[in-house]
Amino acid sequence: MIHIATAYVRGAFAQPTGAEIPIIYPGDGARIGTLHEDDAGTVDQAVRAARTAFDQGDWPRLGTERRQALLLKARDAILANVDELARLECLNTGVPMRQLRDRHMRRAAYNFQFFAEFIGQVAGKTYGQAESHLTFVTREPVGVAALIAPWNAPVALASMKIAAAIAFGNTCVVKPSEQTPLALARLVQILTESGIPPGVINLVNGRGPVTGSALVAHDGVDLVSFTGGTETGKAIMAAAGAGLKPVTMELGGKSANIIFESADIETALDGALVGILSNNGQQCLAGSRILVQRSIADRFIERFVARARRVRIDDPMDPATEIGPLAFAAHRDRVLGFVDTARRDGATLLTGGKALDRPGFFIEPTAVLAPSNDARVAQEEIFGPFATFIKFDAPDDAIAIANRSRFGLVAYAWTRDLDLALRCSRAIRAGVVWINTPMMRELRAPFGGFKQSGVGREGGESCLQFYTAEKATTIATGAVAMPRLGLT
Ligand code: NAD
Repeated sequence: MIHIATAYVRGAFAQPTGAEIPIIYPGDGARIGTLHEDDAGTVDQAVRAARTAFDQGDWPRLGTERRQALLLKARDAILANVDELARLECLNTGVPMRQLRDRHMRRAAYNFQFFAEFIGQVAGKTYGQAESHLTFVTREPVGVAALIAPWNAPVALASMKIAAAIAFGNTCVVKPSEQTPLALARLVQILTESGIPPGVINLVNGRGPVTGSALVAHDGVDLVSFTGGTETGKAIMAAAGAGLKPVTMELGGKSANIIFESADIETALDGALVGILSNNGQQCLAGSRILVQRSIADRFIERFVARARRVRIDDPMDPATEIGPLAFAAHRDRVLGFVDTARRDGATLLTGGKALDRPGFFIEPTAVLAPSNDARVAQEEIFGPFATFIKFDAPDDAIAIANRSRFGLVAYAWTRDLDLALRCSRAIRAGVVWINTPMMRELRAPFGGFKQSGVGREGGESCLQFYTAEKATTIATGAVAMPRLGLT
C-alpha cells in the first residue's frame, strides 16, 4: 500500500502538492509512500487555521471541565486505534511493534489523560496585602504553538507536546520529521475526529530548512516546542529569538550509565542492555556511556556482550523482535561510521560493528571499550545500538567522567549504597538522575537537559509554566487614595 502524507489543516488533509519525498520502510528498504512537502504558503494556511481557532474559536474559552472531557475522549480514541497507529509508526521508524503497541501508543494515550487530570488541579493566586485592593493572578493560554518532532519516537514525543499545548487552551501546528510523517498524521486526524475542534491541531510536512523554518519564523506562531538534535535546536532557538518566541528545547545526550561495584549486578546488567538497545538504540536518553568500576568491569562487560549477541534482531513487525533496523539508510551509515572512528581513537571493538546481510537498515548491537572519556565515541551522540564502555577506579572518578560531556540530559547510577546514590544525585549535572532503574518517566516531574541537552523542561508543572502566561488583575475593594487632578 502506498501512503500519502500531506498537510492537515482545519480538520482535513490537503490535496497532494509540493515536492515529493519518498517514505521508506526501514525493515526492507522498500518505498511505501510519498510525502508532499509543504512550502511557506501551506504553512501560512496551517498557522492561520490555528490562529483563528485561538483568536475566535471556543477552545481557549472552554470551561476546564469541558476541555477535560474532550481530552479524555481523545485518550479513548488513541486507545481504540493503538494497532493502526503502532503499525504506521513501525512502518516508518522500524521500532519493534511490541514496543510501539505496549509502550509508545499507551504513553500517547496517557499523555492526554495526564493533562486532563492536571488542568483540573490548577489554581490561581490572590494577593490581598495592599490596602483597599485585591489582586488575583490567572493563567491564560499563550496562543499558537509550533510543535516540532524528531523521527525516533514521533507519536510518543509529539503527543506529549500536543496534549500539553491544547490542555492549557492553546492551538497548535505540528511538524513531524520528514522521515516519519505517517503515524503522526493519523494521530492528529484521530484527535480531531474524537471531538477536538477542527483548527486546534494542524500539521505540516517537510524538511526542516523548508517547512520547519517557515513555521518557526511565522508571525502567527507564539511559542515553539522542539525535540531533536542539538545543532538544529540552536538554529531554531536563534530563529525563534528573532521573534521573541519562548522555546523549549529537548536535545541530544551522551548519558552516563554508572555501574558501581556495590550494584545489584543482575539488575544493572538488564538496565544497561535496555538503556542502550531499546528503541533500536535511537533514544535521547540512552545510557550510551557505560562506566563500570574496574573491580567488576571485565566480568560485567563479558556478560553484557554475551547478552547483546543473543538479542533478537529481526523484522520490526514481528512481535518477537527485540531490535529492528535503524530508521533510514543515511543514519545506519552514520552509526556504522563510528566503528572506524572508535578504532582510530584506540578503542577496542567488543562486539558487533557490521550491517546485517539482509535488506533493510539493520546493524548488529555494537559495543566498544574506549581508552578514555576523550574518545569521540565517548563524547558524540551516536544514536544507535552502540555502547561505549569506560572503566573507572573510585566512585568520584565516575562522577567526574559523567560530567565531562557537553551534554547533560540524564544519568543512571546502579548501587545499593544509599550515600553514594545521593552523592550521584547531587553531583551529576543532568536533568534526570535514575538510580537503580532505567528510564522511569514521572510525568509530574520535569524532564529536560542541562548544558547542550536542552533549555526548559517538559512535565506537568513545567508545561503549565511554558504553555500559559500569567495575568494579574487588581481591583479596588474600598476608597482609593489618589491625586485628583484638574480640579483647580
Ligand atoms: P533533527 O534535529 O534533525 O530534526 C528534528 C526536527 O526538526 C525534524 O522535524 C526536522 O525536520 C526539524 N528541523 C530541522 N531543521 C529545522 C529548522 N531549521 N527549522 C525548523 N525545524 C527544523 O533531529 P532528529 O535527527 O529528527 O532526531 C534525533 C535527535 O533528537 C537526537 O539528537 C536526539 O537525542 C534528539 N532527541 C531528544 C529528545 C529529548 O527529549 N531530549 C527526545 C528524542 C530525540
